[in-house]
Amino acid sequence: RTVYLNGQYLPEEEAMVSIFDRGFVMGDAVYEVTCVLDGKLIEFEGHMTRLERSLRELEMTCDISREEWLAIHRKLVELNGVTDGGVYLQVTRGNAGDRDFHFPPAGTPATVVLYTQSKPGLANDPHALTGIKVISVPDLRWHRRDIKTVQLLWASMAKMMAEKAGKDDAWFVEDGFVTEGSSNNCYIVKGNKIITRNLSNDILHGITRGSVLKMAREAQLEIEERPFTIEEAQAADEAFYTSASAFVMPIVEVDGVSLGDGTPGRVSQRLREIYIEESRKVGI
Ligand code: PMP
Repeated sequence: RTVYLNGQYLPEEEAMVSIFDRGFVMGDAVYEVTCVLDGKLIEFEGHMTRLERSLRELEMTCDISREEWLAIHRKLVELNGVTDGGVYLQVTRGNAGDRDFHFPPAGTPATVVLYTQSKPGLANDPHALTGIKVISVPDLRWHRRDIKTVQLLWASMAKMMAEKAGKDDAWFVEDGFVTEGSSNNCYIVKGNKIITRNLSNDILHGITRGSVLKMAREAQLEIEERPFTIEEAQAADEAFYTSASAFVMPIVEVDGVSLGDGTPGRVSQRLREIYIEESRKVGI
């Protein structure tokens, strides 16, 4: 694979980052994942807008323009012959010598890394046909989940807990309400109504969430943006999650309780079709 590191395109074995880099030492870094379908970037602008916001919120600077980001993404997709998959992008605060809690002086260059991940047949994930099963775990993450940082330890532990329990993913619960999935935004469906947590610092503002809700409105579905509980989810007709790499994924079980008839729901399936079809049309 050819990867991008600080202005250079290199074989992955040659891309080296300092042991003093704050991304490595302190998790002082933000990231984005942009999906690739049919060799085209999906929701590129949305991901770059969120990246700029994450950088701003953490007072990080990185002087790469939108046009340059696009050129790097496209070049990596082309060089690596990616048809379906994604582009991972990470910006760290760089380093200025020894470990120090204080930010390095202004002008310290950020470390910028991008690489592609090929996932042939991404849009035909068999999990979407059977639906996935989730467990709930307490949300022990920090309170700025709206910033897409690389501090993913609790998300990683939650996925391991789900795996150990023989399930597919975990939903985070805080103060009795579901915040989001370990790496996705989640939704429950009652009749023609979709319920999903409102945007705040408690959850990541999913790019897929924004588009799927817009498409749902256009499909005359009702949307209620508010927190919901595990009990309410277990009593719902269906549930699903959204993320850039999984699109719309039906959920058929929450903490051991089957939803509806235990198979992917009508609304979830329809939204998945609409989202994938639309994405193929508007990819750049
Ligand atoms: N929440 C969390 C915690 C995530 O990690 C992700 C995936 N990056 C999402 C939500 C979904 O965001 P998006 O639709 O932009 O991929």
